[in-house]
Amino acid sequence: VAYTEFGGRGGPGLRPTAWVMATYTSGGLGELTELMHETGHAIHVSAIDTRPAFVDWPDSDAFTEAIAEITALDTAEPRWQEHWLGTSVPVADSLRGRYAEIMLDICWAVLEIRIHADPLARPNAVWAALTSYYLSLIPHPELSWWAMRGQLVQEPGYMVNYALGPILAADMRAAIRAVRGDWTHGDLGWYGWVSDHVYRYGLERSSGDVLADLLGRRPDENALVSEIRRGIR
Ligand SMILES: [Zn+2]
Repeated sequence: VAYTEFGGRGGPGLRPTAWVMATYTSGGLGELTELMHETGHAIHVSAIDTRPAFVDWPDSDAFTEAIAEITALDTAEPRWQEHWLGTSVPVADSLRGRYAEIMLDICWAVLEIRIHADPLARPNAVWAALTSYYLSLIPHPELSWWAMRGQLVQEPGYMVNYALGPILAADMRAAIRAVRGDWTHGDLGWYGWVSDHVYRYGLERSSGDVLADLLGRRPDENALVSEIRRGIR
């Protein structure tokens, strides 16, 4: 489990500070991506610049998770991998790996919706059906590996934010790229620009308003579909 919290809420002339709590044991791109996601939360929290009453997470958890994915999705870009890690894999492999994980999160969200809608359904059977249909995994209804996500017990309903987050993140990344260009090799003005347009508000403005101003329209799935298409050989 990894998560990010406010370390301090800041004060006059002082920005909030963020704490990332995480344990990494084996290394690898998956763990690095998780650290990038938490770092995405941390740089967001640290950029909140509003009056004290509004210094908090935004009013939408899906938007908050999307903000963390703005940075985390970089690790699936071969240009980013080459520049920061010194090695890379082909774009199709990289995106298939990344979006397989996102699809797994979407499966968890759908699982939760279905078992709450039908409490008599067997979670193992619903999970085996979802993961074999969407991810082509061999069904193992005798195993309850769906239960590895603590959020299902601790924060019922939260999984849907991990499903919606990447859809919003793809849309926001496309909007930021349209203004800033490709930032995978670094962009010194990026943090200032994204802070001004996305990070700084806390609860001062609704997530819907911040998104509408950035995108110039309601969010949609087209940016995500274009990203997935890049991964089709
Ligand atoms: Zn998160």
